[in-house]
Amino acid sequence: MVRDFMDDYFELAKPGKKNECWEWPGMINKQGYGVVYRNDYFGDKRMIRVHWIAYLLVQAIPDGLVLTHTCNNKACYNPNHIKAVERYETAWESKKTHCVRGHLLPEPKMVGGRWRRVCEECRRLRQREAYKRNKDSEIEIIANAIHNLPIEK
Ligand SMILES: [Zn+2]
Ligand SMILES: [Zn+2]
Repeated sequence: MVRDFMDDYFELAKPGKKNECWEWPGMINKQGYGVVYRNDYFGDKRMIRVHWIAYLLVQAIPDGLVLTHTCNNKACYNPNHIKAVERYETAWESKKTHCVRGHLLPEPKMVGGRWRRVCEECRRLRQREAYKRNKDSEIEIIANAIHNLPIEK
């Protein structure tokens, strides 16, 4: 019988207590996730994140959702600590609650193909500054024009 990644998974997986993190005892990838290897169609080795396996053994992943750890421990494969969420919820943008200037950020929205939190307040400020700059230069132009007016006698 051909050994596959599920054999590796079941050989190493030792489920712990319901509410504790189950740290993967096997290989951890560069990003910190527990992984097993699988040979793909072309015979190349591919890593499979074990928390995906652990989750899928319990339930299906709803269409369009991705998995994230509720415990923030990437090496954990306790299905109780794994949640299916919208992709944007895992994006770094979604973790920021305030912009660089400290304004509260709105809910993420799709901008240029990515989920982002765009600061409305900063956008308004930028517009106001641009408007003021234009206005200032406009006033300057007018002031210069007035200054350069020929003096009527
Ligand atoms: Zn955990
Ligand atoms: Zn801002």
